[in-house]
Amino acid sequence: MDTEVLIVGGGLSGLTAAWQLSKLGIPYRIVEARPRMGGRILSLTKHGTDYDLGPSWIWQGQPHVAELLNVLGLSKFSQPVEGTTLYQLQSGQIQPHQGLSPMAGALRIQGGSAALTNALSNSLMSNNNLYPEHVVTKIMTTNHGVQLQINNGDKTFEWQAKAAALAIPPRLAAKLNYSPGLPNPLKQALQKLPTWMAAHAKVVTLFDKPFWKEQGLSGTALSQVGPLVEIHDASPNDGGPYALFGFVGYPANARSQIGEAELVNKVKQQLVSIFGSAADNPIDVVIQDWSTEPFTADEEDLNAPAGHPEYGLAMQAQNEWADRLYFISTETNQDHGGLIEGAIDRATQFAHEFNKSR
Ligand SMILES: Cc1cc2nc3c(=O)[nH]c(=O)nc-3n(C[C@H](O)[C@H](O)[C@H](O)COP(=O)(O)OP(=O)(O)OC[C@H]3O[C@@H](n4cnc5c(N)ncnc54)[C@H](O)[C@@H]3O)c2cc1C
Repeated sequence: MDTEVLIVGGGLSGLTAAWQLSKLGIPYRIVEARPRMGGRILSLTKHGTDYDLGPSWIWQGQPHVAELLNVLGLSKFSQPVEGTTLYQLQSGQIQPHQGLSPMAGALRIQGGSAALTNALSNSLMSNNNLYPEHVVTKIMTTNHGVQLQINNGDKTFEWQAKAAALAIPPRLAAKLNYSPGLPNPLKQALQKLPTWMAAHAKVVTLFDKPFWKEQGLSGTALSQVGPLVEIHDASPNDGGPYALFGFVGYPANARSQIGEAELVNKVKQQLVSIFGSAADNPIDVVIQDWSTEPFTADEEDLNAPAGHPEYGLAMQAQNEWADRLYFISTETNQDHGGLIEGAIDRATQFAHEFNKSR
């Protein structure tokens, strides 16, 4: 055996599982397809500051992320919502939004969400068992566990372990090659779990000044016009460059037809129409379209689910796969599925469950 647990995917679930296994003294390796760890957690690093291109928010009442931040020595701050929130009507007219900002009460991680995955990766680095640019293509059972077929760009090879923990979106897990094949009901259950936020694109715009604050605005704006349908302050807690980010309202297929340059132009025009000429000339505009990322989104994910899907995987691997194959991405968590909290909760639960079964 090459190790005891092969963790497939180095996003938050995979890194948390590794961190917990390492505390329990259980040998593991993380096999990650991308050149970087973090998965859907990604920061744009500009001018020495990090801006979230994936998740931004955590909330009170999420004990697992609160505890992990505490142990890793990371802090959090409140999403800025003071000031007037704006509403752009279909006619283009701008009016103040009545009621609380939709993100009142949300918290952000100091240094950006990637501070969390970076801290986990850094604490695991000395074990020399993180393998970026390693794509898992096939999983087989052996007499004593599993064998994974892996491609690292140069060659295809196999690693063996007692178990594999799939910390990848369930729809991507369903598409891997298995020998023997996964039971159909399990495969269908995996396919039914949409990859949270995979259909979405985020645009981050950087500015020299927080001109919205100077006008008594919160930076939050809701729009019926688009391209951005929801805009928020994305500035760091302590100084500039200052930032606004927005979710693009056009569906994935429409985005691919428009192209990035035109989308950037439309975003700039929209920001000026909402916030005035002060929004002209951002220092930078960056688009992160998650629907075009093959290690996040499956074809079925191109259309976003109408609301927050029902998450959790009631059916676990059985028969030949029992105690050999675990599904641990955030979507497999019932209570906080899709969220940062769900990834940490599920991965932690897996590590303890695996430890008990040894
Ligand atoms: C735009 C956006 C906004 C979001 N906003 C929020 C928010 O505000 N709050 C919140 O709580 N959550 C939010 N989320 C969700 C949050 O990002 C996820 O819950 C979390 O990052 C999931 O972590 P994970 O490890 O389960 O999956 P992932 O981060 O998807 O990690 C899976 C990893 O597996 C790798 N992989 C895939 N296939 C293979 C393969 N065959 N071989 C090897 N490796 C493979 C991938 O490269 C990836 O690194 C948001 C997500 C997005 C995209």
